[in-house]
Amino acid sequence: MACLFCRIVSGEIPAQVVYRDPEVIAFRDINPQAPVHLLIVPTRHVESISEVGSADAPLLGQTIEVANDLARQEGIAESGYRIVINCGPNAGQTVAHLHFHLLGGRPMSWPPG
Ligand code: AMP
Ligand code: ZN
Repeated sequence: MACLFCRIVSGEIPAQVVYRDPEVIAFRDINPQAPVHLLIVPTRHVESISEVGSADAPLLGQTIEVANDLARQEGIAESGYRIVINCGPNAGQTVAHLHFHLLGGRPMSWPPG
């Protein structure tokens, strides 16, 4: 199994897991860009958000719910947070397994770099 995040899902590669259920896992980013930087990842291998359609609506809803719950758990719900999905090279996607970044704990500028 070559995919890095599939290997984290299977437990083959360790990660700081903060949440898991059969459909979704969340763990701390190894190279955090903010005081709180979690990755929320569907356990099923989907390469990017470009492959997602209306049939995946329940999974996406669940992923966002997990992100919102974790934002509360991490204490950034009131101060605000950003959920980012990078898709493809120009957006900076480096891992070809769909993941949502949850970033917070500091002010963030707009537009992103
Ligand atoms: P992206 O650039 O949007 O594809 O995001 C990939 C993210 O995965 C980056 O923020 C990396 O720091 C993070 N990352 C890479 N390897 C690991 C790992 N082994 N454990 C946790 N996060 C990782
Ligand atoms: Zn994968």
